[in-house]
Amino acid sequence: MPAPEFQHTVGKTASLSGTALHTGDKVTLKLHPAPVDHGIKFKRKDLQDEPTIDAKIENLKTVERATTIGEGSVRVHTVEHILSALSAMGVDNAIVEMDANEPPIGDGSAQLYVDLIKKAGVTPQEELRKFFDVREPMNVESKSGALIVLLPDDKFRISCTQAGPNNRFTQFLSIDVTPALFEREIAPARTFVYYEDVKPLMDKNLIKGGSLENAIVVRGDAVLSKEPLRFGDEFVRHKILDIIGDLALIGRRIRGHVVAVKPGHASNADLARLIVREQTRRSSLAAPRTIPSGDGGLDPDQVLEILPHRFPFLMVDRIISFETETKCVGVKTVTINEPFFQGHFPGHPVMPGVMQVEAMAQVASILLFKLAKTTSRIGYFMSADGVKFRKPVLPGDTIFVHAELTKSRGERLAKAKCHCVVNDAIVSEAELMFTFLDK
Ligand SMILES: [Zn+2]
Repeated sequence: MPAPEFQHTVGKTASLSGTALHTGDKVTLKLHPAPVDHGIKFKRKDLQDEPTIDAKIENLKTVERATTIGEGSVRVHTVEHILSALSAMGVDNAIVEMDANEPPIGDGSAQLYVDLIKKAGVTPQEELRKFFDVREPMNVESKSGALIVLLPDDKFRISCTQAGPNNRFTQFLSIDVTPALFEREIAPARTFVYYEDVKPLMDKNLIKGGSLENAIVVRGDAVLSKEPLRFGDEFVRHKILDIIGDLALIGRRIRGHVVAVKPGHASNADLARLIVREQTRRSSLAAPRTIPSGDGGLDPDQVLEILPHRFPFLMVDRIISFETETKCVGVKTVTINEPFFQGHFPGHPVMPGVMQVEAMAQVASILLFKLAKTTSRIGYFMSADGVKFRKPVLPGDTIFVHAELTKSRGERLAKAKCHCVVNDAIVSEAELMFTFLDK
């Protein structure tokens, strides 16, 4: 178990001024402290009512050349470099206030933002950080040839391969994302563009603030920039900078290893969406770990009052929550003392799948008895559809049994969709039908 980490914000407000890339206008940016669980928000000081936009993947609007977020008609362009610096330097909560629709581009790197964050200072807060722990490999692949794989790791690491047209400027770098390494190895790496990509934009006057002072231009085999390359592999370093910035849109820190081949903003955003989907799925599976009092659940005595089952066949210890009248979560703690482990199997104890189905049926019938406000009947199994056993349940596991009534005909027939969860993964599921008969 990694040591607990606390959220951080900036110590005080700090500001900087510069030029916006797309409009060429002068822009002033102020970085303000923010409370715990606030995340990063952009504030448009130049607009009426000073609207704020959450730096969240849900607000992502476009990914062409830069990452743009927005809400309603309000936009903030090119957020990835400042988000990268905030994330890598350990700032979880901050307000980024600007008097334009884009942060200053600086020299095309994240150097100016690292300097700004250091000027403001980084201070711990009293709430724990939220992490996304990679549990199994995840991947995204795009038609443009980008491929990103996310692997389990106990820290945030990025291994990136960058390749230009015809595989020119192919570069590879693998690095841990820590404040010190980011500041030294990643933040100074500048944006680079291919001449054939920017020519049409320059012709259309779309990058008014663009110059060789804030981007490296690659034309054929030639590298054009005001200042020589800062690293022999500056391009892959900037790709890593962008990955960190785009993934910051998930609003959590990642414990995992990003392996990226020819990544771009679009593929980074695809991975961010995939992570958020997986996080949402996990949260919907996770049950509260504390035992509520009062009407929030049922303790073992109350379960025994409702269910007729007894040792060794009672498969619910308690009900920990009733989400609605038709949805609840029960808990079954599986110990090595369960009688079925004696025979299933000696020396290799695995909880029988049918006992998990029985647990689902018991939790579902608690819902029914509560709904019918009677315990003078006994529920009998009629059918079980779509039964799947996905992972073995072992002694020491705690099963969270989720049940939802999907259909009831009169008070005699009911259908329930159920699944058992161990360690936030579904271990079994089934759709059950019962009939209720008087005792
Ligand atoms: Zn960039």
